[in-house]
Amino acid sequence: MTPALEALQKQLKQLPGVGYRSAERIALHLLVEKPGKLPELVNALQAAAKSVRRCVVCGNLSEEEQCPICADERRRTGQVCVVENVQDLAALERSGAFRGRYHVLHGKLSPIRGVAPEDLNLAALLQRVESGEATELILALSNDVEGEATCHYLLDRLPKTGVPVTRIGFGLPSGSGVLYADAVTLKSALEGRRTYS
Ligand SMILES: [Zn+2]
Repeated sequence: MTPALEALQKQLKQLPGVGYRSAERIALHLLVEKPGKLPELVNALQAAAKSVRRCVVCGNLSEEEQCPICADERRRTGQVCVVENVQDLAALERSGAFRGRYHVLHGKLSPIRGVAPEDLNLAALLQRVESGEATELILALSNDVEGEATCHYLLDRLPKTGVPVTRIGFGLPSGSGVLYADAVTLKSALEGRRTYS
């Protein structure tokens, strides 16, 4: 083990989902098996670090001032779907189920982990409502204590605006049934039931 290799492994180990063994495997792959690929990776990292930033409207990642979704006039429907992170936004986009705009909070409130309102992209969301750009909010935040806390915080701050706020339903996964669902999912599915007749 050389100092440079050790430093590389240390950096890799800090990435999500990469443990000690994976870090070692990746480092050796890059240095021994595919050294020719290394400059490409370095260039891609540098280019991404230089050009990717947050959209000034919604907080999504973008290479322009506004992300492609915010820049698309057809998506200016007034509906704004509030999500925790960019991965959630991408999942909703892949589903093709939503054609409005988004607002990425970059986390959720958590007193235990020390995440306060000012750590999140919340003020910009309230501003979008106040300016009249957002006329309906759809909260697509997770179904846990922190997601709940974030929804409550938002509702507390939005009372005078009169903007309709809905929260996405949490039900059974497609292709699954009551038998295999955990208690929290079943509770949410019952609470989120819709009229069927
Ligand atoms: Zn945007």
